[in-house]
Amino acid sequence: MNTAVAATTAQRAPAIALAQVGKTYTGDVRALDDVSLTVEHGTFLAVMGPSGSGKSTLMHCAAGLDSPTSGSVRIDGLEITGLDETRRTELRRERVGFVFQAYNLIPSLSIEDNITLPLRLAGRRPDLEWVGTLVERVGLAGRLDRRPAELSGGQQQRAAVVRALVAKPAVVFADEPTGALDLRSAHQVLDLLRALVDDLGQTVVMVTHDPAAAARAHRALVMADGRVVESMDAPTAARLAGRLASLGEW
Ligand code: ADP
Ligand code: MG
Repeated sequence: MNTAVAATTAQRAPAIALAQVGKTYTGDVRALDDVSLTVEHGTFLAVMGPSGSGKSTLMHCAAGLDSPTSGSVRIDGLEITGLDETRRTELRRERVGFVFQAYNLIPSLSIEDNITLPLRLAGRRPDLEWVGTLVERVGLAGRLDRRPAELSGGQQQRAAVVRALVAKPAVVFADEPTGALDLRSAHQVLDLLRALVDDLGQTVVMVTHDPAAAARAHRALVMADGRVVESMDAPTAARLAGRLASLGEW
């Protein structure tokens, strides 16, 4: 890497930067307790932890779906706390992609229309060459005119991954993306997410209950009681399962 490129890389803000983020729900539930976290571009981060430990709240705050009670959230260098709901919605459309456990495809629309719908809702024209590249990449070329029900669960989730990527977001958030899939389809979706990170430099944050799934990430966080209690580089399923067991989860 030449020095000019190195300097540019060094100056690029992280994909996600949380500083002392707190979230208290009514009834005094402290869902996030001063969480600080940096996710660099081109990394695959898994988030684990017992039920109720704050994983979803962390993801919602980091993605601009919800506002923290305190602290700062930056997406790709842009401070999002303090933005009104309209601006936050715009920002999500431009910089964030989502993949959910239930693929959330619209049954009456073709796969192609499902994939391009978020962009069209944002009044943007899809980059058809990019869509073509992605569709080829996930093995759905030739199935674009099908309805979701005509595809397997794994294929539907791969379509949902393409939909999350069409706007070239800074970060893709995936909440239990393999939770509804059989083992083989789950592997394919995890392979796909990992390849997007390794080959395209995409940033992915994935919440999962499955240590084997989290072991596909570059780094795994373990949460407990609204805090990050462990940050593991190159995690293995065995080490993650051990750490979760120590929290009474397994
Ligand atoms: P996880 O995703 O790890 O299961 P959550 O982030 O969903 O955890 O929840 C963290 C804590 O915040 C839990 O105690 C949960 O009951 C509480 N919580 C989550 N959402 C709400 C809400 N909308 N109102 C009140 N409490 C909530
Ligand atoms: Mg949750």
